[in-house]
Amino acid sequence: MQEKGTISIHTENIFPIIKKFLYSDNEIFLRELVSNAVDACQKLKRLSSLGEVKGEIGEPRVSVSLDKEAKTITISDNGIGMTAEEIKKYINQVAFSGATEFVEKFKDAKDANEIIGKFGLGFYSAFMVADKVVIDTLSYQDGAEAARWECDGSTSFEISEGTRTDRGTTITLYINDDAQEFLEEARIETILNKYCQFLPVPIQFGTKTEHVPDGEDAEGKPQFKEVAVDNIINNSTPIWNKPPAELKDEDYLNFYKELYPFSEEPLFWIHLNVDYPFNLTGVLYFPKVKNELELQRNKIKLFSRQVFITDEVKDIVPEFLMLLHGVIDSPDIPLNVSRSFLQADGNVKKINSYITKKVAEKLNDMFKNDRKGFEEKWKDIGLFVKYGMVSEEKFYDKAKDFALLANVKNEYFTLAEYAEKVAPNQTDKSEELVYLYSGNPGLQNTFIQSATKKDYDVLLMDGPLDNHFISQLENKLEKTRLKRVDADVVDKLIEKEHQYESVLTEEQSNNVKAIFEKTINNSTMSVEVAAMSPEDLPVTITMDEFMRRMKDMSKMGGGMMNFYGSLPDSYKVSVNSNNKLIQKIVETNDETQKEQLTRQAFDLALLSQGLLTGEALTAFVQRSVSLM
Ligand code: ADP
Repeated sequence: MQEKGTISIHTENIFPIIKKFLYSDNEIFLRELVSNAVDACQKLKRLSSLGEVKGEIGEPRVSVSLDKEAKTITISDNGIGMTAEEIKKYINQVAFSGATEFVEKFKDAKDANEIIGKFGLGFYSAFMVADKVVIDTLSYQDGAEAARWECDGSTSFEISEGTRTDRGTTITLYINDDAQEFLEEARIETILNKYCQFLPVPIQFGTKTEHVPDGEDAEGKPQFKEVAVDNIINNSTPIWNKPPAELKDEDYLNFYKELYPFSEEPLFWIHLNVDYPFNLTGVLYFPKVKNELELQRNKIKLFSRQVFITDEVKDIVPEFLMLLHGVIDSPDIPLNVSRSFLQADGNVKKINSYITKKVAEKLNDMFKNDRKGFEEKWKDIGLFVKYGMVSEEKFYDKAKDFALLANVKNEYFTLAEYAEKVAPNQTDKSEELVYLYSGNPGLQNTFIQSATKKDYDVLLMDGPLDNHFISQLENKLEKTRLKRVDADVVDKLIEKEHQYESVLTEEQSNNVKAIFEKTINNSTMSVEVAAMSPEDLPVTITMDEFMRRMKDMSKMGGGMMNFYGSLPDSYKVSVNSNNKLIQKIVETNDETQKEQLTRQAFDLALLSQGLLTGEALTAFVQRSVSLM
């Protein structure tokens, strides 16, 4: 039997185009050919279970091998094989209607995936790296004869008798001069690890030596020998396809190690499993995230029936969950289409909200079942939750019941608990609740102390997203405002009906203001004399909440915000007319001493905020000694 013919693709020769356009992505030829081989094995299994294949079918297996001398790569399987008729049907008739459509679509194609998927060109991706491809195959069907197909990358092929004696298909690629890199073992192994790590059929590539027991010596000591065994590169039964009930924590942790060998243990995980209205399985892990620098995107791997597709899961996974690790496997995600299509795809949207819902449910369960454990993990989880609450309305609605606020004493409250806790003491005269927070308890310690003296609570907001979270809380919570603890003197942070009377006359107050202005002599600091509790500090330096937020945001860049960024820092210096030190300044007649005390009071305020440095600090220390 020998037959020659022409591949019916109605165009002169698509192979040079394939090579030219797809070169950058050419490594996927291996994914395509190995996937075909795996499919062939699985089809055989299915037919066997339906009783359509008689007898034992043996262990399914795909082998990849290199021959550097011959410059070939071989992909061999023991799947269903093909008859000559099937080769003609499946291989020779390339599955697209005509040259016009092909060339038309080709123009806009961004990558090889897009073209190969769209035109069912999986097998032909072989010509991205090969000058000649040979198929040698024997079908499982009773009485089938081995068939051989050979094609040199032109549109003509040749079919003849094959040499295979056992069922299955062998595909041999004669690697072209531009693709010699693929004759390196390490390169092939890397590609196999990338795309085939979890394929459902064992994939063998080369051999490895193993240390195995080899009886005992005369003294009864166990002996070992080195033997060459097949090197299986994949784990064909990854945990995401198993029922969660069958899995232990250890299994999840081991799988995590398999995915990310050098990472720290994850905090917890979520097993995804839906089959309606779309198919999706997967395991998502929450990594430990201590700071911003460790945030790593693109750690989620996307599979389609265990074939690795990409680790760019943008659009499929909600933005705020991109920081998670793990795998998602769905045959329902259209993999071979452009980004814009993906965004508009109904399934993708549903998958997105399913994942959001699942994550919220898991967090809620953890919160309900083990509040203490949840609080302990909050430092890590909080980042995701806050990100989600800020960026996704739907997630906010779910998370508002378990999201926690931590205060500087390391106590945790839900939003509802916190409102209840602070309402009696932190409602101002206009019936608004005021939450106080600190972004840096070390630096803002003096202010925290003043607030604590008043029995105010101070929240800790020192995370990378807390600025956004604060704005979001203000948007969402009714009649509630957040103020950083150093945004004003304590009496004005939360304004109450009760006002202190000043012990100074108006004239004395004006004098104090003048002395301070003269001493400070800095246009970015405006002085205000106010009556506060005698217990409060003599001088407090604050920056207005609104102004500070605008400046913080301008640092992060963007439009109108630049305007605020360009303004100089402006501080308010509040002088407490009821503090003894201020009264002493008023009463002193010695001008030098008056100025020294003023300077001293101001420096104390700077000092308590870490604003006193260098020469000013040295001068302060010397002055303190002489005053004593
Ligand atoms: P697709 O896999 O998208 O159908 P391909 O061009 O990759 O497109 O393959 C075309 C067809 O050739 C397959 O559908 C299958 O019927 C057949 N085929 C390819 N490789 C093998 C193989 N290793 N064993 C059996 N059949 C195969």
